[in-house]
Amino acid sequence: MNYQRELDKLLKKLETKESVPRLLLHSCCAPCSSYVLEYLSAYFSITVFYYNPNISPESEYTKRLFEQQMLIDRLPVKNPVTFAAGHYDSGRFFEMARGLEHMKEGGERCFRCYELRLKETARMAKSAEFDYFTTTLSISPLKKADKINEIGMRAGEECGVPYLVSDFKKKNGYKRSVELSKEYGLYRQDYCGCVFSKEFSKEK
Ligand code: SF4
Repeated sequence: MNYQRELDKLLKKLETKESVPRLLLHSCCAPCSSYVLEYLSAYFSITVFYYNPNISPESEYTKRLFEQQMLIDRLPVKNPVTFAAGHYDSGRFFEMARGLEHMKEGGERCFRCYELRLKETARMAKSAEFDYFTTTLSISPLKKADKINEIGMRAGEECGVPYLVSDFKKKNGYKRSVELSKEYGLYRQDYCGCVFSKEFSKEK
C-alpha cells in the first residue's frame, strides 16, 4: 500500500467537511512530532498522546515528556493541539521484551514495542471517542512504515476506531522535522529509547 497516497486521499475528503475531526496522535518524542503536528493540524484537532513505557531511564522519559509539552506550547498550529501523558508502566515494556533483549533495533522486539504503544493509543482513542488515531513513529528512517501501519490497522480494528495510515518520512517529512528541531532548539536523543538501544548506541 502507498500509505502517503492513502493519507492524501483521506485529507482531501476531510477538506470538504465542515467539522474538524479529532485525532489522537501517539508521539515518541518532540522532534518526531514537530513535522507531523505542523502537517496534520491543518486537518485535525489533535491530542498528543505521550505513551512510551519503553524509554529508559525514567529521567530520559521525563526529559522527552517536558520537551514534548514545550513544543506544543510554542509551535504555531492551525487547529488546537492538546497533550495527554500515558502511564509510565515500564514493567510492561520489560515483560514484553523478555527473551528479545539482544535483538538489534528494527527486529521483533521493536515490532512488539510498536504494538504495545499502538494498542494503548487505540484503547484510549476508543474510550475518549476520537475519530482517528495514529503515531509519529513512521517518520524515522530507521522504522519500517509497513510494519507500523499493519500493527496500527490491526489495533484499530480490534478497538473499533480508524487508524490513520501514514509514512511521515515521505514529502521530506524527516528533513522538515530536523529543521523544526533546530528552529525550536529541541533536544534530539542519540538512541531510540529502551535500555537495549542505549547500549547499542554506545557500542557504535
Ligand atoms: S529500539 Fe526503540 S522501537 Fe525497538 S524496542 Fe527499543 S525503544 Fe522500542
